[in-house]
Amino acid sequence: MGSDVVIFRFRSDLRVGDNLALLEACASAGRLLPVYCHDPAADAPTRWGFARRGPHRRAFLEAALDDLDAALRVRGSALLELHGAPCEVLPALARAVGTDAVVCEAIAAPEEEDELAALRAAGLRVRTVWQSSLLDPAALPFAPARLPKVFTAFRQAVESAGLQPPVPLPAAQTLPPWPDLATAAEAAHPIRACRRSYNDEAPVLPCRSGGSRESGGATRDADAAAERRLRACRRSYNDEAPAFPCRSGGSRESGGATSDADAAAERRLRACRRSYNDEAPAFPCRSGGSRESGGATSEADAAAERRLRACRRSYTVELASFPWWWPDFAGGEGAALAHLARYFASDRPQHYKATRNGLSGVGFSSKFSPWLAQGALSPRVAFAALRRHEAAQGVSEGSYWLWFELLWRDYFRFLHLQHGRRLYRARGLNAAAPPPAHDPAAFVAWCEGRTGHAFIDAGMRELAATGWLSNRMRQVVASFLIHDLGCDWRAGAAWFEAQLVDYDVYSNQGNWLYIAGRGTDPRGGRRFDPDRQAATYDADGAYRTRWAELDRRGDD
Ligand SMILES: Cc1cc2nc3c(=O)[nH]c(=O)nc-3n(C[C@H](O)[C@H](O)[C@H](O)COP(=O)(O)OP(=O)(O)OC[C@H]3O[C@@H](n4cnc5c(N)ncnc54)[C@H](O)[C@@H]3O)c2cc1C
Repeated sequence: MGSDVVIFRFRSDLRVGDNLALLEACASAGRLLPVYCHDPAADAPTRWGFARRGPHRRAFLEAALDDLDAALRVRGSALLELHGAPCEVLPALARAVGTDAVVCEAIAAPEEEDELAALRAAGLRVRTVWQSSLLDPAALPFAPARLPKVFTAFRQAVESAGLQPPVPLPAAQTLPPWPDLATAAEAAHPIRACRRSYNDEAPVLPCRSGGSRESGGATRDADAAAERRLRACRRSYNDEAPAFPCRSGGSRESGGATSDADAAAERRLRACRRSYNDEAPAFPCRSGGSRESGGATSEADAAAERRLRACRRSYTVELASFPWWWPDFAGGEGAALAHLARYFASDRPQHYKATRNGLSGVGFSSKFSPWLAQGALSPRVAFAALRRHEAAQGVSEGSYWLWFELLWRDYFRFLHLQHGRRLYRARGLNAAAPPPAHDPAAFVAWCEGRTGHAFIDAGMRELAATGWLSNRMRQVVASFLIHDLGCDWRAGAAWFEAQLVDYDVYSNQGNWLYIAGRGTDPRGGRRFDPDRQAATYDADGAYRTRWAELDRRGDD
């Protein structure tokens, strides 16, 4: 097209540091438009009867986008948020700015690949850059198609080749300026761009003090302070200020829209903000009725929803292992880097191997995964910090094990490069596996933490209330769903996708397949005996008691 404008689409790489795709886009652009697409499909109901993405993930993402926008502004740019299906809004935006060039990171999962195929079919030149793994796939001692069949063989091949991750890339100091949207006001018209979508009046932080949030207010000083911080933060994106870049070229400093087109775009933005609300049903539907209406469809559903909302409002911060509503655990690169620095300045990495099977608390494992999943933290940045820690405090079994676990993360990525869509079949990689069974009522009970098995129920309540679950509990509850309740592993994977703040398409799919015996487990699947697991990891019953109490509070 001969334009120097490049659209950079952020996906699961919400950072400016060690972002090869962003650097390559900058290098090829005279003018760069960084965008993030809010695809309504991300919040649509799943075939299992619940919204695809729950409130924890949404809130964690919002924080990361705020952080990213601020980092871009410091560098002379800003984030443009688009609401709509990427295959509609991106071509419209490209027409508006007179380009066909889009750069983004590669994601080797079917839906994400289909999305790019649709963009290409719409006439865009989409260039992708692989950057989400620790190791460079091109440097592996085997072709990705020849990935060893089991993890241990993969790790041994990597270690005996002495393969090291690439050194992280520094963030660009400045970014190319935005293109002038004023020249394309008409073409830009259909684009629904939206900076922030939440409503400013409702309390959003769970209550530290255990008091009721029903009143809509904070219940003690710490809550009030947190709310103030949050509102101050929101004010910086206040609803009065224009959210769109100015089409008409007029100054935005005055805080008002400067042309009819601007005003119309602002109106669309405000409508858009209203469209995200926390009232969407959170649990799958017992009664089999449609959830599309956005409401519970039977008394039992309504009661479950009430319990969940009460739970969310009333849990105390001590219960959560990843309190994403705290500034220290907020989404985004700023909080991620601060957490990384704190973690490696402590002696926790040295004890990691001994503590990593813990169930509760902020310190038993690294807690990198939520930031890794949204791409606020690059695995290479995490690894470089690990090496610096080892240089300062010595290599330990714990520090080695962090590398080991990061290799698991890579393994599931490379498995996608090798097998692609085959990982998304009901039988996965196991040609001999029968079609998965499913029991909808048992599945709903599992989601709600009402199976009758106290250990499983504790885990499932923790997940729904906080958006987090330890690796140990993930294994135990996944095994229980598949091997004890006889349910479809894909339903469990979808529930995790909706709930987990660290949802990652590769790791989630890979781990569920593994436990279901449809992936790469050399033992053909894992059944964890829930009683033995409870006796080993919750010997004093504290974990079960804590989440049972929470449930009782929810019933009040
Ligand atoms: C059924 C099931 C579903 C899962 N879904 C996800 C998911 O959606 N997103 C996700 O990031 N992890 C997933 N995991 C893996 C694992 O539970 C989390 O990565 C881990 O609990 C995150 O906590 P942490 O960052 O404190 O991990 P640590 O124990 O501190 O490990 C350090 C890092 O290593 C990686 N890692 C550790 N264990 C695994 C693993 N089993 N598979 C892949 N990477 C691993 C993670 O990036 C993690 O941040 C799943 C595990 C199971 C059993």
